[in-house]
Amino acid sequence: MDLIEDIVTPFNIQASEKGVDYDKLIAQFGCQKVLPAHIKEIEEITGKKAHHLLRRGIYFAHRDLEMILNTAKMKKPFYLYTGRGPSSAALHLGHMIPFILNKWLQEVFDVPVVIQITDDEKYLYRQELSLEQVKHFSRENIRDIIACGFDLNKTFIFTDTSYINFLYPNFLKMQKHLTVNQIFGCFGFNGSDCVGKIAYPPLQAVPAFSNSFPHIFRNKNDIPCLIPEAIDQDPYFRLTRDIAPKINYLKPAVLHAKFFPALQGLHTKMSASDENTAIYLTDSKKEIERKIKSFAFSGGGKTLQDHREKGANLEVDVPFQYLSFLMEDDERLDEIRQKYGKGEITTGEVKKDLIGLLQKLVEDHKVKKKEVTDELIDKFMEIRELDVKL
Ligand code: ATP
Repeated sequence: MDLIEDIVTPFNIQASEKGVDYDKLIAQFGCQKVLPAHIKEIEEITGKKAHHLLRRGIYFAHRDLEMILNTAKMKKPFYLYTGRGPSSAALHLGHMIPFILNKWLQEVFDVPVVIQITDDEKYLYRQELSLEQVKHFSRENIRDIIACGFDLNKTFIFTDTSYINFLYPNFLKMQKHLTVNQIFGCFGFNGSDCVGKIAYPPLQAVPAFSNSFPHIFRNKNDIPCLIPEAIDQDPYFRLTRDIAPKINYLKPAVLHAKFFPALQGLHTKMSASDENTAIYLTDSKKEIERKIKSFAFSGGGKTLQDHREKGANLEVDVPFQYLSFLMEDDERLDEIRQKYGKGEITTGEVKKDLIGLLQKLVEDHKVKKKEVTDELIDKFMEIRELDVKL
């Protein structure tokens, strides 16, 4: 399918089979490219080799990353803000991408993370979901998020409905400065959308202001915030950055990821809104094997002879793309890139590697998730001081 323009919104991703044109998106959204100099600086500041999601250009665009790096260089505090919209009981691999990077950034920069669970958003935006269902999903999603390895002493997880009294003052300030036209223009709503949908976006904005967390940042409103996320969330933070100076707050910095593609191809992202596009962290070994074998779109040749002659098109090949996101071993990935690209190995062989890697990743995750008790969830959600140097 050839589209004239890619569609990238928080609600819908549609592109050609080659996937989103990310350079075009940078120009369209007005953000900046993550450059090799940024990666080098992260390595110099932290003394650690950059995470492969950064090294491989999967986190590819930013706003004000330099401000965060300068803050870190001066050994001043900053914090990370990430989140999840609880639309399903289980997370899929695409949801893991921001959590993997946030956990790594927390570790190497030794900074706090706040994690917003937007139960209100999913209730309002998904007609078929009841508030009770969304609350149940929230708790299960939090279990998955904790299993990603966040540090209890430096992480605060909250649902919007439980933490609203702390968010409300900044929410009001944002609302006073935002017009309905701005919201309509930014998110494409119209007059027949429910009022809750239209009022929601500033609630996703306010965790980017440090005084929304007085128990962590002691009412300071000038602690810089970095938001690593996929680029579909950019509209929320374009609005936030627009309003922040008007209410005397710092603009948050953002770091954008490319989309972890749907099993069927790069024309859209893996999404819980369409179950067939996704591998869940609850899938069995068999399920993973079946999904990859039956659905993962191949960029290999149509016949074996064709494949041997021309090699695979790695740009559109879903198994290779998944390996690029998830395989830590650079040498092995490069070997696959070379051999598969030349047609020396087949899609079946690459899928076998991928199935093994995904089965291990999901099984390891299940073990860690089993260790996450209800008490531990309550501890992560407790309104408390964190181990933060201010
Ligand atoms: P879904 O339809 O699967 O629920 P979503 O975008 O509504 O998708 P959220 O939980 O709201 O999911 O997103 C949480 C974070 O995960 C955001 O930063 C979002 O950009 C990111 N994310 C979601 N899906 C993907 C994906 N396929 N690839 C990369 N990041 C993703």
